[in-house]
Amino acid sequence: MLKYQHGDPSVRFVHGNSKRGSLTLDLCKTFALKYRTHSEYFTRYENIRGSIIRFHEGNLPSQSHHLIFQDSENIENSSDLGMIVNFESTPNDSDCDYQEFIHRDISTANKWGRNGTPISTFFSANFAIVKRKQGQPVRWFHSELNRLVSVASALDRFHENLSLWSEQKYGMIVICPTGCHWQKKGKERVFSPTEIGVFAMRSKTSKDLLAKMKCSRCGKNAIRSIVEKPIRL
Ligand SMILES: [Zn+2]
Repeated sequence: MLKYQHGDPSVRFVHGNSKRGSLTLDLCKTFALKYRTHSEYFTRYENIRGSIIRFHEGNLPSQSHHLIFQDSENIENSSDLGMIVNFESTPNDSDCDYQEFIHRDISTANKWGRNGTPISTFFSANFAIVKRKQGQPVRWFHSELNRLVSVASALDRFHENLSLWSEQKYGMIVICPTGCHWQKKGKERVFSPTEIGVFAMRSKTSKDLLAKMKCSRCGKNAIRSIVEKPIRL
């Protein structure tokens, strides 16, 4: 399946025939990590679907982030377009990309199961596999990932600063992750830029704001927010 290994040994290409390209593991992992934070936005406006496969292998767990870039003109074949970024556990936090608390697998030959308290585990990217369309140049993927990272950085700035969000004239969709509201389009609660400006007087960030909100239907307070329309850079 892996036909070509490009200059950076950490990024492998499927369907590769490109002689050029500067795709690095760093760029691939940067977007994979940004996607974790902004998955609702990227699913909705960029047709990117993501999932994380968590492997529990004794004391060496690893996590594989799969991103599928759906081709709106060719949905049938778009599962073949995207990338996988693999993160392995690392003993120290100095070179880690993120931390999770996970249950270690304590299975033995005649007994299996998991118990005990979750253990702080550090993960660091060790390779990426990029799956692109036949004949699609590496530079397309490179520039597309750069664009997506820029969009994610703009989203970070909005979420960190509600005044900026309001000034830039974007609305805010609020969703309940339990699925009780947000899956029905047209029934979503959308706050206008003016309303966000009022919120900004009392809450600096979206996190501060959402901590004060509860879902009116199910009562949970795990509310999340999405920028209301695609970001124009
Ligand atoms: Zn709810």
